[in-house]
Amino acid sequence: MIEDIFCEILKGERKADVVFKDKDFWVIKDINPQANIHLLIVPVNHFDSIKEIKEKDEAMFGRIFQVADRAAIEAGIDEKGYRLILNEGQDGGKVVPHFHMHLLGGNKLGPKIVN
Ligand code: AMP
Repeated sequence: MIEDIFCEILKGERKADVVFKDKDFWVIKDINPQANIHLLIVPVNHFDSIKEIKEKDEAMFGRIFQVADRAAIEAGIDEKGYRLILNEGQDGGKVVPHFHMHLLGGNKLGPKIVN
């Protein structure tokens, strides 16, 4: 396991704008927002990859969508819509190794997913 920025936030060693937390997930505001609302859904347990989740805690796949749904409702963007993004690995553009999902919305997003 690689220690990373999200591990530091979860341990209280680094500040973050936390909008929600329970024993399994924290939802924080992205420090460099790409939309009016840009949240990160971060599991408390560190997973490096989808492969690791598949091997250790497959139920996580369902739970992260439940948390995303809740975060979208609480942000008031569930009706108008939003985008969920999950960057995996080097070619996927993942920068922080700690598995996480992006939730973007609050304004109309363009049709392009990649650039
Ligand atoms: P990814 O490319 O999926 O690994 O995205 C990592 C995201 O984490 C980027 O959108 C960053 O802007 C965001 N990020 C990096 N450091 C922090 C931080 N300290 N607090 C909140 N978000 C961060």
